[in-house]
Amino acid sequence: IEARKTDLTGQFNNLTAKLKELFKLCSSLSASMDSRLFIVGGMVRDFVLDIENKDLDLVIEGQVEPFLASLAKELDVDYQYNDRFQTGSLNYYDYTLDLAQARSEYYPTPGSLPEVESAGILEDLFRRDFTVNAMAIALFPEEFGYLYDYFNGYQDIKNETVRALHRFSFLDDPTRIIRGIKLSLSLDFNFEEETENLMQEALNRGEFTGLSLNRVLRELKDLFYRFHDNSELPGVLKKLPVVKLLDFSFEFTEKTCRDWKRLEESLAYLDSKDYNIKEWEVKLVLLLRNLPGGIRSKINLTNKEEQLLNFINRLPENTENIFAFEEPVELAEELDKLEPEELALIHCFKEDSYHRSRLEFYLNELRNIEIEIDGNDLIDLGLKPGPEIREILAKVRKRRYQGRIKDRESQLELARKLIKEYQK
Ligand code: ATP
Repeated sequence: IEARKTDLTGQFNNLTAKLKELFKLCSSLSASMDSRLFIVGGMVRDFVLDIENKDLDLVIEGQVEPFLASLAKELDVDYQYNDRFQTGSLNYYDYTLDLAQARSEYYPTPGSLPEVESAGILEDLFRRDFTVNAMAIALFPEEFGYLYDYFNGYQDIKNETVRALHRFSFLDDPTRIIRGIKLSLSLDFNFEEETENLMQEALNRGEFTGLSLNRVLRELKDLFYRFHDNSELPGVLKKLPVVKLLDFSFEFTEKTCRDWKRLEESLAYLDSKDYNIKEWEVKLVLLLRNLPGGIRSKINLTNKEEQLLNFINRLPENTENIFAFEEPVELAEELDKLEPEELALIHCFKEDSYHRSRLEFYLNELRNIEIEIDGNDLIDLGLKPGPEIREILAKVRKRRYQGRIKDRESQLELARKLIKEYQK
């Protein structure tokens, strides 16, 4: 098939001086090595959209290392080269440049790692995920600044459409479904109808045998990190329940949508109390809470994520234990131990209960209570350093939490009395 070629050199004028200089240099080096060189991937898409992108992906129809070494020398920077994958990178001012050899990929079985061999630009673009990501801009002198578009990506950008390159795309690599969601949310593009059907078919089929669960998790985390606040996300997850890629039994139901909404209200409430919460992590945990233990043990969750999953899965017992403490000071001590994310989960799932009102009492009042005396004050009052200091301060704190002895004077007064009792 033939590439549709569009002259984009006019738009090159908008680029920064550094980037123009870099492209010119790439162009003359590619000529001296007699290899065609292209910009590919996200930067091409963003270039057409006139969005700045500082990640420069280059593909060469030729040897990677000699090109990269000469480029690095001209720019007077270091470079990294990976001999096994024949890829390399360097940094130049704000820009990260990645260079790879043009290659084709072939998936022996769905979801498995592809077999790779060197090829031309057409094959290299054909292995990519969506048409808008599968265009190239030539950087070699003969066609410098020309867009190479084999799959109608340019028109899809104009139509704000996310379209897969072929029918087997999501069977070959189901993580592309998550990538597609990110793409459509970040650009506010719609899925082409057939593409959405193919995504749903792949998710319903569920034979993800060779698929790396940790790759799925990485894409999921990135999705949540970047788009947890996007009001369209729950609807998209309902339509395209990508957590199925971790465990096929997973569903995103009406109930999950309602939980999500309530959680957002609780997160907003805690946010208004000046808690700094990792919202994306709490939402991820909400989604992963029913993941079977067998799957959980195979994916690389952080300790914090493990802790939150355990907490949400044992929420009834955990809250019973915490709220068994009736004394304000003891309740405060228990709740002080929790992560803000755990407080949000209690708030969300203990809706309309006595527990929630106790939690709000803590958030609004108890947690702001401090006593205004410390160990040094007790020593000044004649107490010898030792374990009594902690005990006396605890008693003062307890009274303070009960709403009495509000000022420093009355706290000192109580301390004096307690010291006398200890010294008897
Ligand atoms: P962003 O600007 O959001 O980082 P990007 O498109 O540059 O987006 P990368 O993850 O850096 O995203 O990937 C670079 C390019 O590699 C993509 O544009 C796409 O063409 C290709 N690509 C990445 N992952 C896949 C995949 N799983 N399947 C097919 N092509 C992929």
